[in-house]
Amino acid sequence: MNDIKGVTTADIARVFFGIDLKHGKQYCPLPGHTGKSASFNYNSTKDLWFCHSEKIGGDGLEFYRWMTGKGMGSCFADIKDRFGLDDSSLEQKGYYTKEPEMNLYIKFCEQVMQLAAENLTGKNHILNFAFEKWGFTKEILQKYSVGYMDYSLYSKLESLFGTAKLEEFGFIGNTKTGGKWKVFQDRVIFPYFNWSRRPIYFIGREVK
Ligand SMILES: [Zn+2]
Repeated sequence: MNDIKGVTTADIARVFFGIDLKHGKQYCPLPGHTGKSASFNYNSTKDLWFCHSEKIGGDGLEFYRWMTGKGMGSCFADIKDRFGLDDSSLEQKGYYTKEPEMNLYIKFCEQVMQLAAENLTGKNHILNFAFEKWGFTKEILQKYSVGYMDYSLYSKLESLFGTAKLEEFGFIGNTKTGGKWKVFQDRVIFPYFNWSRRPIYFIGREVK
């Protein structure tokens, strides 16, 4: 169910963006999406959507937020105005309890973030690189939960989640010759957060 009573994700898609959202799989309409497969799924019964490529999803409010990039307060206000709702129609809840697949992915990201941050501790050559080359401080590393991925952490994640999940979540990739590669191995990783400050993906940087 949508957090905005009486207004569905499909209503928001149509009224604000002229998009005809259908039940089931389709191309992803989100502006940040780059893939070309039908990775976007809309469940009109539950009124929830999910993009399997971007690993993001939610309800109508979240859809509007990803479409516009606005803050939550503005999103509430825009929808309220356009649909002529009063304050009692708006109810903010936790979003990431609704989609089990997304829950697992976010749990995975949180675990990676925590373990990778611990893994950076004491790795002085990498810390020095971050301080000198990137101008980071200890406070920045901590504030943004920056971490480090290496072989041992990959092994740990494989034992916790299984190789198949690591592949599904984009931590293990396929080479053109049919091999596998560890996408973030020996890289400093930076988590990206959603609006409720939960990590939803990572950027990796080589340290050399
Ligand atoms: Zn997408």
